[in-house]
Amino acid sequence: MYPEQQPNRSLPMIRDDGRASDQLRPLRIVKDIAPYADGSVLIATGDTQIICAATVENSIPKWMKEQGVTGGWITAEYSMLPYSTLVRKQRDIAKGKMDGRSVEIQRLIGRALRTTIDLNVLEEKTVWIDCDVLQADGGTRTAAITGASLALARACVKLLNQGRLKLWPLRQLVAAVSVGVVEGQVLLDLNYKEDKDAAIDLNLVMTSTGSFVELQGAGEEATFSQSELQQMIDLGRKGIEELIGKQRQFLLEASQGSSEIFKEL
Ligand code: UDP
Repeated sequence: MYPEQQPNRSLPMIRDDGRASDQLRPLRIVKDIAPYADGSVLIATGDTQIICAATVENSIPKWMKEQGVTGGWITAEYSMLPYSTLVRKQRDIAKGKMDGRSVEIQRLIGRALRTTIDLNVLEEKTVWIDCDVLQADGGTRTAAITGASLALARACVKLLNQGRLKLWPLRQLVAAVSVGVVEGQVLLDLNYKEDKDAAIDLNLVMTSTGSFVELQGAGEEATFSQSELQQMIDLGRKGIEELIGKQRQFLLEASQGSSEIFKEL
């Protein structure tokens, strides 16, 4: 049997940025940051900043045609700009190969977004989601998902208004956050320093209907008990509920005229 190890929560931890253990970093969302995209935002969670853009093409991937799969598709690309990290990160194109971490993250973003949309209503269209990290301070994959959901929603509004879509395709929003155990404390929304020091790191992806899309958790030379996992899930869930509230508020303000749609999501 596995004895349950209780983390030491006797002393509340003072975080470097003064946050409480259950507090998200300040969230800032700027709309239409890339005007030629169909929908775009700059999302900032503390010092992590990402440009998320959705661009719609009137075609579907070759594999869909070959396999006779009907409807549309969503695909995502993730990249860190060279100056987004403390030490300059070489572009993949200069290295001649794609970073494995980026491949993993862009698949995660694509999976998360595909759960939010009725691909049949998208008709024969592909939505390209591009997430480019401007500044990385931990939690870039989670901020990318939260921002990409908004870029997609904004693109859907534009397509519907322009008659490029007949029906509203979006069924829900999706948001993500990290939770970790640092010095025995369960903390919400880790920055880079906390992420580096974390013994356990869990990324949660959830929809506005309260369903889980993905959980990515790992102990770094550490293990975790079921009760710690439950605490991390509870804290992450609380964070995601807050993020989804802010996503709705942003969409209502940014898309006046189409605001009725977002009350449903
Ligand atoms: N990071 C970096 N260079 C890299 C990869 C990561 O500086 O090539 C930093 C960056 O701040 C990032 C953090 O390490 O946000 C944590 O990286 P991780 O792979 O856990 O992904 P993230 O937390 O950003 O989703």
